Amino acid sequence: MYWYYNLGDYSFIFYILAFGIMIWSLIVRARLNSLVKKYSNVPVASGKDANTCVHEMLAANEVYGVTVKATGGEMTDNYNPKEETINLSETTYGRNSITAVAVAAHECGHACQAHSSMALYKVRQAIAPVASITSKISVWIAIIGVFIMYASKSLEMNKMGYTISTIGIVLYSVVFIFYLVTLPIERDASRRGLKAMKEFGWVSDDQYKAARSVLWAAGDTYAVALASAALTLLRLLLMRGRRRR
Ligand SMILES: [Zn+2]
Repeated sequence: MYWYYNLGDYSFIFYILAFGIMIWSLIVRARLNSLVKKYSNVPVASGKDANTCVHEMLAANEVYGVTVKATGGEMTDNYNPKEETINLSETTYGRNSITAVAVAAHECGHACQAHSSMALYKVRQAIAPVASITSKISVWIAIIGVFIMYASKSLEMNKMGYTISTIGIVLYSVVFIFYLVTLPIERDASRRGLKAMKEFGWVSDDQYKAARSVLWAAGDTYAVALASAALTLLRLLLMRGRRRR
């Protein structure tokens, strides 16, 4: 694999780390799926459905102008800050399971973040469009740069490759920063949702613990993404590192 080419002594460590992240990712996904499934059929003690809970939480946080909409698919729930809509998936919209209420409260947490002066949320919103473009091209730019460096026969060509690969790395850094700010934002949205679940008595004490495990497992997927982005960034830096002098 050309990807690991030229890493020299580091390549073995990267294989181990990449493999570790892959296993971790599988464990996180499996755990999340089983928790979501387990609590999708258990109605909350209050009997209130996800939509009712969202409206209650929005009103309590004095967030106005946000509408709740149904969206297709499963686990596709999201908050759209541009349209000011909380989009709830088929397994959440109008449902009163622990999973549905927990997921809806989490998305409502994002709406509250957007309507509060949370600096981190604003940073993410600002870099999200840039990160979505650079995530597709940055790694390739960095690799092409490294390829030019190693294929070069002159010092000028080598320098050009180094510069191109640096541009790729800088662009990938935006992706890394995006994941870096996303994790605390996701945890915060879950905390806000869980606080509401407890305060408004939507769930029993045991159900609260269940909801917390679902939301924390969902948040772990962002921790995996961050670790993976950190490894990619480090890998690109080391690939480019050995510049001919
Ligand atoms: Zn979220």
